[in-house]
Amino acid sequence: MSHVGDEELRQLQEFIEELRGHFIVFDSSRVRDVEYARERLVPDYQKDLVIDMDPFFEKYRSIKPFFITYEPDPPVERFQSQEDRAKIDDSTKCILCGACTGSCPSFWGNKEYVGPAAIVQAHRFIFDSRDQGANERLEILNDRDGVWRCRTVFNCVDACPREIDVTRAIGEVKKLLLFNRMA
Ligand code: SF4
Repeated sequence: MSHVGDEELRQLQEFIEELRGHFIVFDSSRVRDVEYARERLVPDYQKDLVIDMDPFFEKYRSIKPFFITYEPDPPVERFQSQEDRAKIDDSTKCILCGACTGSCPSFWGNKEYVGPAAIVQAHRFIFDSRDQGANERLEILNDRDGVWRCRTVFNCVDACPREIDVTRAIGEVKKLLLFNRMA
């Protein structure tokens, strides 16, 4: 096994530090000895793509991406009209790829921002007629690093491989928050 020198090692460590928390494709040509890097520098290194998705999924979990109900389960499935289902048609298409969050200038400037992907996921439940946790999620998104960080740049819409109108979903959540505040 060939080893990289001290200087290369230092550069490699700096490079990996730069990558942490970013959605960047790792250029494996910059690592001369992949096995060495795997063993010594990045134990969780998989192939030639280094993405630290933990912060992304922490934000995803923060908006409670699961059904919340306070009534006993019905004897049959929970019904939903076609009109109500249509309200979440777009946001249910999300595959959590993170492209929208990775393309968002507000997120580049503030890594605490919950990000468009988490808001799309929140939208999916907030506007689901069978769910009863909308107020809990709205409270979370009303935080200073919540939905108001969106500056309607539309990068997320261009980035989304599922062609979700991410900015519209964020706008609908903002509108609901304003509506609730006025009610
Ligand atoms: S880019 Fe689209 S599919 Fe990917 S996480 Fe964002 S909303 Fe979901």
